[in-house]
Amino acid sequence: MWEDLLQIRSAGVIFYVLRDSKGLYLIDCGFIGGRHALSSALKKRGWFGERIIGIIVTHGHLDHILNVGRIAEETGAWIAAPRLDASHYQGDASYRGAAKVTGMLESMGRALLGFKKFTPIRFLDEGDTLDVWHGLTVIHLPGHTAGHSGLYCASKKWLFSADLFASYRFFPHLPPAIFNHDGNQIPQSVAKALKLDLLGVLPNHGDDAPPEVHLQRLIEMKRGMWQQK
Ligand SMILES: [Zn+2]
Repeated sequence: MWEDLLQIRSAGVIFYVLRDSKGLYLIDCGFIGGRHALSSALKKRGWFGERIIGIIVTHGHLDHILNVGRIAEETGAWIAAPRLDASHYQGDASYRGAAKVTGMLESMGRALLGFKKFTPIRFLDEGDTLDVWHGLTVIHLPGHTAGHSGLYCASKKWLFSADLFASYRFFPHLPPAIFNHDGNQIPQSVAKALKLDLLGVLPNHGDDAPPEVHLQRLIEMKRGMWQQK
């Protein structure tokens, strides 16, 4: 679909491969079957065997980080991940309120699926820049998790929006409460994202609409959020 970007889908979650002159970078690493999906997608695209240099994590939920430790170990890739989700990478995040269900599911999932703990070489905070691909800036969009962050590419005017919302044609929605660290922060995070100069957004949960369409849905969803108030 794009010359230097690949979208991979596995078990309900999307993750991304970015390619620049130095090699490949992953934004999150998918869930069950993610490593297999990655190698077959790279083969299909003709990128198999190119070096995976780095892994950038958007937040600490298991469907995004299950394979991070293992892929980093196999490839020697560095890991950069939001500082405020650090406990997730060690497999001991504590959840509160409705999100306790997620905590329970995750601890079962970690054991069943062979989650490997990892320690990022770099902790990401608001405004940090990553000198990869066309350049990325960390946009802290808390609520879904404490550290939940998007990655903004100013030259493309795209936001990798992680789990800020799920973008499906007939049902674009905010993440369900059981998955959220603090749902009250999410409307502010949506507003913050939409203040960026944007042509498109690339979510981690959604259908295969182009980035402009995902952006349009996010704008409409925000409008709906205001109307409900
Ligand atoms: Zn999530």
